[in-house]
Amino acid sequence: MATLVVHGGSGAPPEAEWQPRQAAVEGAREAGWAAMGGGALEAVLAAVRRLEDEPWLNAGFGAVLNQDQQPELDAAVMEGGQLRAGAVGAVKDVRHPVDLARAVMEDGRHVLIVGAGASAFAREKNIETVDPEFFIAEHRLHPRAPEQDTVGAVARDDSGRLAVAVSTGGMSGKWPGRLGDSPVPGAGFYADDRLGAVCSTGHGEGFLRLVLAYRVAEQMGLGGAPGQVADWALEELKQRTGLEGGFIAIDSGGRPGAAFNTRFMAWAYRVG
Ligand code: ASP
Repeated sequence: MATLVVHGGSGAPPEAEWQPRQAAVEGAREAGWAAMGGGALEAVLAAVRRLEDEPWLNAGFGAVLNQDQQPELDAAVMEGGQLRAGAVGAVKDVRHPVDLARAVMEDGRHVLIVGAGASAFAREKNIETVDPEFFIAEHRLHPRAPEQDTVGAVARDDSGRLAVAVSTGGMSGKWPGRLGDSPVPGAGFYADDRLGAVCSTGHGEGFLRLVLAYRVAEQMGLGGAPGQVADWALEELKQRTGLEGGFIAIDSGGRPGAAFNTRFMAWAYRVG
């Protein structure tokens, strides 16, 4: 049995935006599902790559800007068989940051590369780059309220392999150089075939302080149901830090789950 869960970020967008955000997530779920034949890793990458093209969502093309009105994008990918992971942070000029995260993972020397070094890595690996103006122009055209709408996907293929991918512009108006949880293993994402796959969204500082993605995976490994474990982690987030967010998760047997304690989180899943 294969399972794919996709989300378009937790937050409180105006109600008029709920439907297009949900439609974007469902489109990405189908794009991911179409790639499932290549395994869980291909499925999550295809889903997140599609979400990076959505103007509604805070990743790739739709990414929010920092306090200097500059894009600084973060992304990550992890597979749960050999625990390979790749992540990039604060990149200004990469069209699909999740492609760069994949290149970091496949290269294998490092897990997390940020800033100018990440851009140089993109050029070395022939990953598509753009003028940062590409991201800025979109915001002049469609200014948005500060929102937390990271995108992500978790999958289990029918061989039992797990994977997660995540991509974000981070928190709108953030300090230049700030990294949130999204590119940090154990905080923003985690995948281990023995435990489960998890993707976080929300106020990244809280997920970093509580190492929440790993803790959700660990609880699933002990038998917890994904949705219930995610609810527990959000309660922990609220109680310990006063912050909010959401999760999508799959356990090692392929059970899907999601939870959020913000007003809204677009998410969708498919099992088959
Ligand atoms: N977690 C992301 C960050 O803090 C934001 C989000 O999920 O929307 O950068």
